[in-house]
Amino acid sequence: TNPPRRKGSMADVPKDLMDCITDLEKLFTVDKQRINELCDEFVKEFEKGLTEEGSSIPQLPTWVLGFPNGEEKGTYLALDMGGTNLRVCEITLMGHGKFDILQSKYRMDPSVKTSTAEELFGYIADCLKQFVHDHHEGVVKEELHLGFTFSYPCDQHAIDHGILQRWTKGFDVKGVEGVDVVPLFEAALKEKGVPIKLTALINDTTGALIASNYAHPDTKMGVIFGTGCNAAYMEVAENIPKVAKHNLPPDTPMAINCEWGAAFSDRPDVLPRTKYDVIIDKESPRPGQQAFEKMIAGLYLGEVFRLALLDLHQQGHIFLGQSVAKLQTSYTIDTEILSLIELDPFENLRETIDVLETKLGIQCNEQEAKLVRRLAELIGTRSARLSACGVAAIAKKAGLTKCKVGADGSVFNLYPHFKARGAEALRDIFGDAGDDIDIVHAEDGSGVGAALIAALTLERVKAAGL
Ligand code: BGC
Ligand code: MG
Repeated sequence: TNPPRRKGSMADVPKDLMDCITDLEKLFTVDKQRINELCDEFVKEFEKGLTEEGSSIPQLPTWVLGFPNGEEKGTYLALDMGGTNLRVCEITLMGHGKFDILQSKYRMDPSVKTSTAEELFGYIADCLKQFVHDHHEGVVKEELHLGFTFSYPCDQHAIDHGILQRWTKGFDVKGVEGVDVVPLFEAALKEKGVPIKLTALINDTTGALIASNYAHPDTKMGVIFGTGCNAAYMEVAENIPKVAKHNLPPDTPMAINCEWGAAFSDRPDVLPRTKYDVIIDKESPRPGQQAFEKMIAGLYLGEVFRLALLDLHQQGHIFLGQSVAKLQTSYTIDTEILSLIELDPFENLRETIDVLETKLGIQCNEQEAKLVRRLAELIGTRSARLSACGVAAIAKKAGLTKCKVGADGSVFNLYPHFKARGAEALRDIFGDAGDDIDIVHAEDGSGVGAALIAALTLERVKAAGL
């Protein structure tokens, strides 16, 4: 299952271009030794993140206190606020790990991402109102309980509260950072007269963990490799010194939203960063944050690629004498372009040449196309290997030797060879035992996962007689 290697020959590539390729390979390759060193650093950082002192990895307690047993029942709403869409689902859990789902998607205007709290939550409440109108004629007999998937780092002291630590993934809505998002959300619902009760505020990784465990109980980790990147796993209270003040029984399970995208933001040199990663960070709306995420997540892969090509052009190695206007504009290259280049089946890289022409207005010869293809492979491989390094470190930390990891997100689902490259990195770390950490497609975390967590929460409230 080794990742396929490109067959095309490099024999016709002139020396200058070949030197550039060699340099790129040095810059972007995370070899076996390096990945093992980094994995050990990660384990320490994950450990320390659970203490009062903390580390660059937030390790956020989620108040999801255990896995489902498969017998959860009832009807719940789930709301997923993604970057491009808002999805509302009505999920009926039927027990035996079965469910029914009804859903609507609402397009979110990109301007909402940089608007104000009032606009954002007002928009969300409007979508929920529309949903209740369309599916319940606006009349709700019993109170509808909602699991809200809000996929940003939130400090939680209870499952139905969450203070946004910071926006990630290019969001920049004013008046939300440092604030509990639940009252903002509830005020908007009240104002628009929407008869819905928020029962649980969850992260997409926690949703993936719980939904995947519901269907496959050997799932012990949930990960998202998409626009952003992150993981969740189940810890026990006695291993989380920072929740000691809550006096939970020591064996209480507690899902941890790791927020590993923030790893090593305080000492980024631990990461195998290139000068391009440094530029991305500097020019982002939140410099000095999400150092790890900026090297591996879908939002940034095209930008790494753009900066490397632009640099080679400015140094006079490629696309000589051309105006490269598109290449000079930030975030013009979507990860999809790298995917297309990596999928190019032709020896002469006809598809790659075509993609550069149509999407970037660049005339590229066959030799340059070989460099372009190699660069895409290097960036995609680095992302997959570093992602797997995070998974391996959690497995080491939590003592997981054989389990499934439920993974979702555009990079995991769509980027060529991502899974095979990740599996190879796991073997670099664990030898043959790396194959026992099986990263598979997650069940619908932000839908079914959110509904399950709402169900588990209500059961717990009832059991406690509250
Ligand atoms: C967010 C996480 C989220 C991840 C994947 C990151 O930018 O901080 O909360 O889980 O993206 O969506
Ligand atoms: Mg999402």
